[in-house]
Amino acid sequence: MNASTVEHTADVSQLVFRSRVVQILAVETAVLYGVLAIFVDIHPLWVRLVLGFLALSAAVVALAVRGRTIATHMPGRILIVAAMVCVSFVAYAITNQGLPVIASFSVLSLTMAVTVLDTYRMGIILSAFGYLLALSVIISRGANPLAACLVFLGLAVTSSFLLIRQRQFLEQARDTALNLALTDSLTGLLNRRGMEVQVPLLDSVSRRTGQQLACILLDLDHFKAINDQFGHAVGDDVLRATSATIVRTMREADVAVRTGGEEFAVFCLVLGQSDMMALAERLREQLEHQATHPQTTVSIGAAIGSGADSAAISALSARADTALYAAKQGGRNTIRSA
Ligand code: GH3
Ligand code: MG
Ligand code: MG
Repeated sequence: MNASTVEHTADVSQLVFRSRVVQILAVETAVLYGVLAIFVDIHPLWVRLVLGFLALSAAVVALAVRGRTIATHMPGRILIVAAMVCVSFVAYAITNQGLPVIASFSVLSLTMAVTVLDTYRMGIILSAFGYLLALSVIISRGANPLAACLVFLGLAVTSSFLLIRQRQFLEQARDTALNLALTDSLTGLLNRRGMEVQVPLLDSVSRRTGQQLACILLDLDHFKAINDQFGHAVGDDVLRATSATIVRTMREADVAVRTGGEEFAVFCLVLGQSDMMALAERLREQLEHQATHPQTTVSIGAAIGSGADSAAISALSARADTALYAAKQGGRNTIRSA
């Protein structure tokens, strides 16, 4: 996954999250105002009609955003404005009938405002307050117990949904950040930090299975000349193509790393020196024939050793690097082992 893909994924997941939140809010508004309109004895009658109308509008919003990704805050804002207008009417109509009613509506609209403005945790807390106040209104007016049950149910469903979604979202954000920290943005391969995480795992497998850990270092030959002659963008294309060829050629369990500018490493489990040299030769040969313009070759240095920790990985890489230097001295497009 390269950086732009990661960013895009994060963007899309945020939009999907927002659309779900708006949908839940719309359902919440529809249910709550519907319950208050139908079951609670609020006078005059037109207040109940306004409540019913708002409930219906919220239901329409819930249906409209269903299964969509919303790139704007608009539906959420419409809900807020509708709620605010309704709160003003209700407050005007029932001021003499009790503070809790006004408070509950105000808190509900605040809930929507806060939640839609992306501070989800505060939205959840305010939502709980709104429900409790609505509940107190219902109870203090001795309304149908079904109304109380519905409000309780709504509270349980919406807050658990929002909490679960928030948790998933945070986990996704953490994974994305981790991915960004451990991978190289140009090629999508692991970077050095990623290497220090993955290679010790491969090393522990090698000790369990009795295989050996090999480090195969690859450095593109005369790469600077490609940049100079064709430009940096073409150089980048060659680097991407090279990483794709490496991934295609290596075995599934192997670990590929972009260790530097035009230098790559493949860490793999081998049965011995000849196994390692066979894989190195396959890589050299595939890279020599990959369909890039301009054509490139690589020099390869390979070594077997330990990759148990950062120090061991450095020591192993240093030996492979010495072999790589020998390969360059030997005329390039060739392999040497330590
Ligand atoms: P040799 O055969 O000895 O390896 O020669 P070389 O030209 O490949 O090696 P040198 O180290 O002299 O040049 C490496 C070049 O790689 C220099 C640098 O501009 C280029 N480079 C490093 N990172 C990137 C990158 O991300 N994109 C591009 N396009 N070029 C890069
Ligand atoms: Mg080079
Ligand atoms: Mg180099």
